[in-house]
Amino acid sequence: RMMNPAAPPQVTQDLSENVILTTVDDLYNWTRLSSLFPLLYGTACCFIEFAALIGSRFDFDRFGLLPRSSPRQADLIITAGTITMKMAPALLRLYEQMPEPKYVMAMGACTITGGMFSVDSPTAVRGVDKLIPVDVYIPGCPPRPEAIFDAIIKLRKKIANESMQERGYLQETHRFHTVSHE
Ligand code: SF4
Repeated sequence: RMMNPAAPPQVTQDLSENVILTTVDDLYNWTRLSSLFPLLYGTACCFIEFAALIGSRFDFDRFGLLPRSSPRQADLIITAGTITMKMAPALLRLYEQMPEPKYVMAMGACTITGGMFSVDSPTAVRGVDKLIPVDVYIPGCPPRPEAIFDAIIKLRKKIANESMQERGYLQETHRFHTVSHE
């Protein structure tokens, strides 16, 4: 059969999904896992351990993590401390303001289950995953900075194996840029 030299090369659907998108996924995932921007979010004593990561002793910048103060610039939220019922709507709002793809780490017993407040307190949320989806749990009271590093390594492995198509990143990224430029 004669080929038309002016026609663009044809790529079968199988090839485009399995070869081209896989390669783009790898590059895209590598850039994302190498530069996670965590939102500064601490509600109780667990945040003291998180804050220690920022100092020179633990130096979490070497993982490419840059703490942000705005949810619109963050793709990771580490809920460090007790989540109260009163705080829940604010946490939801912050989460919704973060652009996709975004991740959540639940740090400490209080945020994972309500901790010591889960018995009698009517004001503690008994598990942050009742409000927002959690990617990695960090148990402890409080977890040490090394445990947070371990969780970050787990999250990086998860990101490395993701597919843009499955999470619908392209539509979400487009939506975010459209909104943020309005
Ligand atoms: Fe404080 Fe322990 Fe609760 Fe963390 S888990 S907020 S250290 S009481």
